[in-house]
Amino acid sequence: MHNHGLGAWMAKRRLKSPDKTALIFDDRTVTYRELADGTDRVSAMLSRRGIRKGDRVAFLGENSPEFLQLLFGAAQLGAVFVPINTRLAAPEILHVLADSQVRALIHDPSFTERVAPLISAVGIAHVIPTGEGTDAAPGLSRVLRDTPAGHTDVEVTLDDPAAILYTSGTTGKSKGAILSHQNLTWVALNTLVDYDVVSDDVALMISPLFHAASLGMGALPIMLKGATIVLERGFEPGRALALIERHGVTMLSGVPTTYQLLADHPDWASTDLSTLMKLTCGGSPVPTRILNAYEDRGLSFSQGYGMTETSPGATSLHPTMTRTKQGSVGLPHFFTEVRIADEQGAVVSRGTIGEIEIAGPNVFPGYLNLPQATAEAFTADGWLRTGDLGYLDTDGYLFIADRLKDMIISGGENIYPAEIENLISDIDGVTGAAVIGVPDDRWGEVPWAVVTVRDGATINTDSVRAHLDGRLGRFKIPQRVVIVDELPRTASGKVRKADLRTRFASEA
Ligand code: ATP
Ligand code: MG
Repeated sequence: MHNHGLGAWMAKRRLKSPDKTALIFDDRTVTYRELADGTDRVSAMLSRRGIRKGDRVAFLGENSPEFLQLLFGAAQLGAVFVPINTRLAAPEILHVLADSQVRALIHDPSFTERVAPLISAVGIAHVIPTGEGTDAAPGLSRVLRDTPAGHTDVEVTLDDPAAILYTSGTTGKSKGAILSHQNLTWVALNTLVDYDVVSDDVALMISPLFHAASLGMGALPIMLKGATIVLERGFEPGRALALIERHGVTMLSGVPTTYQLLADHPDWASTDLSTLMKLTCGGSPVPTRILNAYEDRGLSFSQGYGMTETSPGATSLHPTMTRTKQGSVGLPHFFTEVRIADEQGAVVSRGTIGEIEIAGPNVFPGYLNLPQATAEAFTADGWLRTGDLGYLDTDGYLFIADRLKDMIISGGENIYPAEIENLISDIDGVTGAAVIGVPDDRWGEVPWAVVTVRDGATINTDSVRAHLDGRLGRFKIPQRVVIVDELPRTASGKVRKADLRTRFASEA
């Protein structure tokens, strides 16, 4: 019997670096030996409860060592880990639990009331709160202490599913992407190669581990290499700055907002950031003002592009190329390939915008319970159709234009909203911007901008149009600028443009 998947990792680490610090959590140090022993207990506990290969084990809670022990412990049994985004609304959590037919759910006690009706709706065999719990309803810590060590021997191949990660639901209902052990192994290898992860690295994990990027490009490569994670339950900018200095943090990953909040914090200027070598930012482009604020401190970013379906890293821009290739998301990862195709599926020449297609061992095998969507996600020769538009420059660097579904066609001209949104975001007082196409008798569609503004800012259609005048072709300048209190967003903070299009189509 062989376990070629993630289930073998902790035992390997216990052999190779037992006394190395794996985690710093709540000011407590957890060595690889301790993490591996805890993982064995989790696996024994799941096994005693009848969890078998292929069963789904879900986790709903903040970052904690238990998250990682469940991931690796489930993998020892060939069970499939389903991390749930804690920011989802109850009906969205219900969708995840029902869709993936979860057999065991481990959740933070703070979710007890919210999950109770969901558990009875879908019928979950084993529900265990984290922490101590009570005599009547023992929590995970107590259950694990009472579980005798056991040994599991399950055949697991790299093709077996390791996790189900749900897409953000930006363009429609969230889909369960099945990620195999191969996918998660190779995304970790890609990260080691392209982000230079070494065993001396100390990574501050302030992003939730349930995000594909934190898992595939954060926790996994670090555990693979035997480096250290300073694991935070959540993100508190002042605390994060203090931890960077105290632990000599070398790696940090986040989204643009994370970096903005750090730079805006009163302690920013007085914090020693000299150990910080590797900053990664993904999900959306890093605004220039953030790049500048960090560059002033001698810090530069690796920016990346990817999606849940690619586990999630697909491309990355080396920090030394930030200025030379400004606006690019970089080169395909070492073991990953990118090409651009036109509407007929033919590969286009360099510089031409088309749909981005991806191939490589980090590309997922398909969606759970969605054969049709899975079939549509792949080309005849097996490349992933991303639904994103972009082009490769002459050096092979990828530039993202926008999502296919968000592109506006006005009078036969293609308009990529992201370009307009970036310029509007530069206007002082604008806090958020989404550009959508609304129906128009003459042009087919015309762009409108929906923006949120800071209290007291005087922003209107005329001032936005004046700002864009001369910076953009006239057909790209929004005909109307609508100020709203809030933009409809997904749990990961992305604007739901389909909702905006529906809302404003009738007003047009
Ligand atoms: P759904 O697939 O459910 O509609 P989603 O596509 O937002 O939601 P994710 O897998 O979380 O779900 O996000 C991947 C998408 O995010 C990519 O397809 C791309 O559109 C966008 N994206 C990721 N990185 C970048 C980046 N660096 N720049 C611009 N867009 C990016
Ligand atoms: Mg998507």
